[in-house]
Amino acid sequence: DYMFKVGFLADVYEERPISEKHPKIITRFPPEPNGFLHFGHSKAIAINFGFARYRGGECILRYDDTNPAGEDEVYYKAIEEMVSWLGFKPVRSTSASENFQQLYEYAVDLIKKDGAYVCHCSKAEIKVQRGEGTGKERFACSHRDRPIEESLKEFQAMKEGKYKAGEAALRMKQDITNPNPQMWDLFAWRILDTEEKQHHKTGAEWKMYPTYDFAHPLCDSIENITHSLCTTEFEQSRVSYDWLVNKLGVYQPMQREYGRLNITGTILSKRKIIELVNRGHVRGWDDPRLYTLIALRRRGVPPGAILSFVNGLGVTKNNSNVQVAKFDQAIRQYLEATVPRLMLVLEPLKVVIDNLPDDYLEEVEVPFSKDPAFGTHKVPFTKTVYIERSDFREVDSSDFFRLAPGKSVGLLKVPFPITATSFDKDPETGLVSCVYAKYEKPEEGATFKKPKSYIHWVGESAAYNSPIKAEVRAFNPLFKSEDPSAHPDGYLADLNADSENIYKNAFMETGFRDIQKSAPWPKDVEESNTDGSPKPWTVRFQGMRVAYFTVDKDSTDDQIVLNRIVTLKDDKGK
Ligand code: ATP
Ligand code: MG
Ligand code: MG
Repeated sequence: DYMFKVGFLADVYEERPISEKHPKIITRFPPEPNGFLHFGHSKAIAINFGFARYRGGECILRYDDTNPAGEDEVYYKAIEEMVSWLGFKPVRSTSASENFQQLYEYAVDLIKKDGAYVCHCSKAEIKVQRGEGTGKERFACSHRDRPIEESLKEFQAMKEGKYKAGEAALRMKQDITNPNPQMWDLFAWRILDTEEKQHHKTGAEWKMYPTYDFAHPLCDSIENITHSLCTTEFEQSRVSYDWLVNKLGVYQPMQREYGRLNITGTILSKRKIIELVNRGHVRGWDDPRLYTLIALRRRGVPPGAILSFVNGLGVTKNNSNVQVAKFDQAIRQYLEATVPRLMLVLEPLKVVIDNLPDDYLEEVEVPFSKDPAFGTHKVPFTKTVYIERSDFREVDSSDFFRLAPGKSVGLLKVPFPITATSFDKDPETGLVSCVYAKYEKPEEGATFKKPKSYIHWVGESAAYNSPIKAEVRAFNPLFKSEDPSAHPDGYLADLNADSENIYKNAFMETGFRDIQKSAPWPKDVEESNTDGSPKPWTVRFQGMRVAYFTVDKDSTDDQIVLNRIVTLKDDKGK
């Protein structure tokens, strides 16, 4: 297992180890089903599922669906799919909404224990009571001391829909003298206007909904969560968390906090991604230039690369602000050892080897990797081969070691070098359209000069059905700066106009068919289609001397589309 090093969350475990009282570690990952998971969520997933796995415990996938406005069925599915993609299996999936009745009963109990009251103050009034903007001392509202019986009646009225949003709310009777604002009589239940959008699970049943501050600790308690691990912005909420479960006298999970994971040079906010999608700047939530988990998956980033990267950052209270380039470097390293290699020519230039017969065909054995365990395959070396346009120069120079008139270069794994003799130019485009070359096969027993460098190539052979054509999408950063949101004219003004280069006519060698059959690459946890065929994003390979690629879901039987996962070096793309 690449993660869960010895001591993974050891301090948290030491505080509450397995014991008779807590025979098993139980954690939960609690997303709100109101958006797609993003890069940052991978840390929450790794921590909650990882801690449980490391300690032989269980992790629950809990949908925190207490606010119907932005929530939707599609997100439930997408979230579960991403958790599974990252290689985790929840012991079960639950929803806060399935506890609404129980949470309601807890609220009644809390009122009876003089721990909550129905309040009718407006937001503005509450602000004044909290001394916000006035500099005056905090004071309690007049509803705080109303009789318990009255609050019970009003809470019932709230439940029955007698109040509109904002007219009544249940507030916890905490401690407004406490310096911690999370103790200033937080809202427990509020009425939400669900005329337009009902709760997708409970429909019209509820007019009022529990808040995070009320629902979260109690759902944790109901599910016997031993360790409630959340991000540091909830550190101050720990006091109210403990207050609530203790006031009700229910099982008390232990809340502990960890720092958020952020990535620079992009945006993760739902609202901003929606705008990019709506304005057509990206193909959708899974556009490979985004940092949602579905986008990373589509781009071809292996789940193991994400997890080992997150694990490498460690679990501390500090927020991590990761640079995209650093993450790319981790992906590159991960792919280096785990995916096969192929020859792919992004911008093919035709080379005709004049001194070979028309029907020349030599099978050249090419290893799939430096690691012999990946095996080898055979590709056709023929009279016509394609090389990368950038590997040929019309005018040679002494610091250039690839192909130029009069100069020799090696074709990877081909026994002898070729030397360029002449070339044709397309009069319309001015581009070189064909290079003529000579195969430098020496006479029997003679030696030949080893070329200074070797380039990738693809042979043309009808028998081999070679080359295989592909469209390649090479991505560059979607934004120009490290902090798009800080742009004075807004993040849209920071968009990089050159965030995608499309190579319509790339050529691949025939080994592609082998690696497609033997995918997934890397050979770890990913699923395949029900017919056994690989999911497109698991067909990953290194295009030698070019970049890492994967198959995009836009591929059809007639047209393969590839995504560039990362370049081979940190050269900021091409
Ligand atoms: P966001 O505002 O980014 O959508 P959130 O706080 O609303 O995040 P959910 O989307 O409900 O949270 O996420 C579920 C869990 O994932 C929560 O426990 C949350 O703390 C955690 N989480 C969300 N974003 C990050 C992040 N950037 N780093 C680490 N954990 C995160
Ligand atoms: Mg969220
Ligand atoms: Mg949330």
